[in-house]
Order: sequence, then C-alpha cells, then structure tokens
Amino acid sequence: MSDVRLRFAPSPTGYLHVGGARTALFNWLLARKQGGKFILRIEDTDVARSTQESVDAILEGMTWLGLDWDEGPFFQSERFPVYLEFVEKLVAEGKAYRCYCTTEELEAKREQAMKEGRKPKYDGTCRNRAEEPAGRPSVIRFRAPETGVTAFDDLIKGRIAFANEELDDLIIQRTDGTPTYNFTVVIDDATMGVTTVIRGDDHINNTPRQILMYEALGYPVPIFAHVPMILGSDKARLSKRHGATSVMAYRDMGYLPEAMVNYLVRLGWSFGDEEIFSREELIQKFSIENVGRSAGVFNPDKLLWLNHHYIKSGDPERLAELLKPFLKERGIDPATGPSLPVVVKTLQERSRTMLEMADGAIFYYRDDFAYDEQAAAKHLVPATAPLLAALVTKLESLVDVTQAGIEAAFKESMAEQGIKLGQVGPAVRVALCGGTASPGIYEVIEALGCEETVARLKRAVAFIGKA
Ligand code: GLU
Repeated sequence: MSDVRLRFAPSPTGYLHVGGARTALFNWLLARKQGGKFILRIEDTDVARSTQESVDAILEGMTWLGLDWDEGPFFQSERFPVYLEFVEKLVAEGKAYRCYCTTEELEAKREQAMKEGRKPKYDGTCRNRAEEPAGRPSVIRFRAPETGVTAFDDLIKGRIAFANEELDDLIIQRTDGTPTYNFTVVIDDATMGVTTVIRGDDHINNTPRQILMYEALGYPVPIFAHVPMILGSDKARLSKRHGATSVMAYRDMGYLPEAMVNYLVRLGWSFGDEEIFSREELIQKFSIENVGRSAGVFNPDKLLWLNHHYIKSGDPERLAELLKPFLKERGIDPATGPSLPVVVKTLQERSRTMLEMADGAIFYYRDDFAYDEQAAAKHLVPATAPLLAALVTKLESLVDVTQAGIEAAFKESMAEQGIKLGQVGPAVRVALCGGTASPGIYEVIEALGCEETVARLKRAVAFIGKA
C-alpha cells in the first residue's frame, strides 16, 4: 500500500475516446502498481455541453475495459459550494480580486494589443482598484505573480518552465457565479489529495496557472505527467476521419477489452520489444518513465492482430458469452443448436474479431442456408453423391462421435471406396457449412453431432439429384 492517489477526470461531452481511455488506463495502472487509489471525477461544469448520456458512456467504457475506480464518480456540478468557499478565501486573502471590466472593454484592449504587436493579456485594470463600483457585474480573477518563473518536472516531458509575465490573471469565477475550469481542477485535485496527475499534453499550458493556484492555496503541488496525443496514420490528430475513435465502437466491432487495453498501453509505453501483456504483467511492469515523449500513431492493423491473438488464446466459455449478443443481432439463438463453447473452439483460430466469429458461427445454427454457387457447382456433382451417401451410412452407425472417432470413420469409408479425402472433403464442407471456407470437417461434425451431419449430407445428395 502507498499513499499515491491518481484520477481520471473526463468531461462528459461525448463518448469515451481512445485517447481518454489510454489516459485513464495509465492512471489506473500506476494506482494498481503502487497500491494507491484511483479516483473517477466527472468534470461537468460546462452544463451546456455535458450530458447524462455521455456520463453513462464513459462509465460503460471504463467498466468494459476493467478500469475500476476506488472513489467516485465525483461530479463537479455537485461541488459548487466547495469551489465558492475557496473563491471567497482567496478574495479575503487578497489572492484574488473582483474585476468589473466589461467584455467590450476587454475586447477593445485585446485588439489594441494585437495592433501594436503585443501579446494580448489582461492589463490589470482592476488589480488594485480602490472603490467597488456598485451594481456592475463582475468576475473574480486570480492574482498571479507578475515576475519570476513557474516550472515543473514533468515525468514524461522533462522540465517545463513558463515566465510568469506570460500568464494572465485568470478568471476563476464568472459573472454568473460559476467557477471556471482551471480553478475547479485545482480545488478538486487539492482537496481529493491527488498526488500525481497524468493527463493529455493538451493541458500543459494550464499547468503553470494551476501550480500558482496550489501555491496560493497552500496545498502541495502534485507531480505531473503529460501524455502525448494519439495521431492517425497521416500524423494528424486522431479523429473520426481515421475510423472509430470511441472505445465502445470497438466492442461493437467485435474487439475484446484485453486486446484494447494491450493495444492502448503500447501506444506510448514500451517494455523492450514485448508486445503481449496480460493485465497482471502490465500492473507489474508499467511505469510512467517508459512512456515515450512523442505521439503514438494509431495502427488498426496492430489492434486487429492483438485481437486475433486474444481470441485464439481465449477461454471458449467466456468467448461464448461475449458472442451471444452478436449472434442475437443475426437472429440466431444458440440454444437451438450445438453447444456454443464447442462452436467457439472451432472458430477461434480463424476469427480476428467476434463479428467474424459470429458470421462464421451462423451455419451451425441454420440448416436452411443456400450453398455457395461456385462451390456447389464444383463439388456437389453427380460423382460425389455416392461418396456422400456412403459417409451417411458410416456416420449413422458411429458410436464414438469425437474428432478421432469421426476421422477413423472417414478413413474407413475412404478405404472401402478406394478414394482419397480430397475427392469428397470439399463436398462435405459445402454440404455442412454452405461453402469451402470453414473450420476442419471433423471439428464441424463433432460440434454438429451425427444426426444433424447426416441430415445435411442427405440434403446435399438430394440437391445433386435435383440439379
Ligand atoms: N476534464 C479535462 C479533459 O477532459 C481533464 C482535466 C485534467 O485531467 O486535468 O480534458
């Protein structure tokens, strides 16, 4: 056990993006590795853009990936009284002040600065105001130091320093009394005791402003680690243009959560040239120091490769459960046919996604499929009819319906007819599965059972007769 406290703090304005999921994963891994706590905080102060649907989507995505949290979810929208208390404290201590400048005034000054080639920045009109104009709306600004440097040692990026004169007197409370983003993050991380902040590097510019607020409030400054963003294959920031970016879209496309976790962690973190990591190994081996400084490029082929790996090596019982919703979408009720885990076993090697597995499983549960035309024309021909009929006789009296038993029966039948498996095998495949791309015939027959196999072989014989 240790005292490290990490958090994931998504804004609920959409689904759980793969980039967000990776940030959550890094935080979760470090918390688990160090025996600390992982906090989930929903940053929903932007009421107009935050939705319950999005909150649900984030929780669903985290749960699917197995990223369990120890505290929360906390909702910023429920913590306004806490933020306001801290605003008042800062004002009382002279560390924040009321600003009465209107939007128009600020805009005019901004334009003037731009025209004169100066960097636009709040000019401090209200910083030392003596009298408070009555009845005018106001915001509250943080009084930032005007000189000096604010620096931090980022665990990923190294030392980062900002000149304080570059930093504005940030608005911490709006005219309508609501607190602003940079302020709520600091209050929450401070009061929730967060020790390490791992987040996207799009927040680097916020960090010095936040550090100044920790210092003003007298709270310890957490350690920061800013993770580089994820790029698409064209090196532009990953977006929908590059394909799905929602974690749950990958579930719906038949990806396994362990493949997603393994893929996401390697997108930025490395451990020698190892590619495959179980969850336990990740907890053991993960370290923020091994996260690279440069952006990772999202590679769908590699994700697919990992998914195939996890499907091949997965537990058939579990995969069967995961397969059910995909079969349902295809109008298949697996209770009406062969045992689903047995079916899964025949398909694991050849399925890169659960979607492919579902498509591959259909023939087990339907006997009314049409034969692939080309395959039927080539293999369901008069010469194969007697061969199939002979197999029917063999299988009708078969006792040992295991792959070994079925293989022995086939060998016997081949020997009796003086033929090779190649002369009848493809026809059997078409008869049983509808086409020639299928799992091994002995596996298929074992899964289907003798009765169903015989019925399908007879159907093929009848088809040849009619053709
Ligand atoms: N809510 C912020 C976001 O979704 C994260 C803030 C943070 O991690 O400090 O980008």
